[in-house]
Amino acid sequence: MSKGLTIALTKGRILQETLPLLAAAGIELTEDPKKSRKLIFDTNHPDIHVVIIRGVDVPTYVQFGAADIGVAGRDILLEDPSDRFYELVDLGIAKCRLMTAALVGKTRPQGRLRVATKFTHSAKRWYASKGIQVELIKLYGAMELAPLMNLADEIVDIVDTGNTLKANGLEPRENIADISSRLIVNKASMRVNHDRIMQIADKIQQAVNND
Ligand code: AMP
Repeated sequence: MSKGLTIALTKGRILQETLPLLAAAGIELTEDPKKSRKLIFDTNHPDIHVVIIRGVDVPTYVQFGAADIGVAGRDILLEDPSDRFYELVDLGIAKCRLMTAALVGKTRPQGRLRVATKFTHSAKRWYASKGIQVELIKLYGAMELAPLMNLADEIVDIVDTGNTLKANGLEPRENIADISSRLIVNKASMRVNHDRIMQIADKIQQAVNND
């Protein structure tokens, strides 16, 4: 039995790089999402729909089967591990690094380290693997501010060019993980719709390889 497919995409910068990969798999939105406030989009396939949501919500939609396929950054998948989806393709887009950072030249203080981050799961695991005791301070944005305001000794954040850190007197220190966007598929959807999903994933993989 086959049913329609719902694909959950991450809005923002990842979306612009994702759409050409979907197009390579023959899936195109019938409307430009940049010019619309809609959240659900039709495609050139009557039974394929695309929802465009925040990256942090993509794994949730795919875990619960509200979306069959999703595209999300590895930074988000590392925070929200699940055995209810497969990670099928490394899309090689939106590449960046998850890193520790601190004020330029500041040495790591002795004792328990205060670490501000949105990525508490990855940070906890990484500092524990280094045997460093930490107090994690959960923030939802502007992590760079925390060391400046003496809220934290270090931060764990996404670094691309490093300009944001530099502009705030911070420097990148250790690399925790290399990040790129991934194609994930709900496990139950994969059973029900295996051939069709694999066809899409294979075409996307080919487009990634040819890039
Ligand atoms: P940069 O100044 O180029 O190092 O960019 C750092 C900021 O941009 C980070 O704080 C992130 O919020 C954001 N950013 C850059 N690249 C990505 C990405 N691939 N995925 C998510 N956020 C990103």
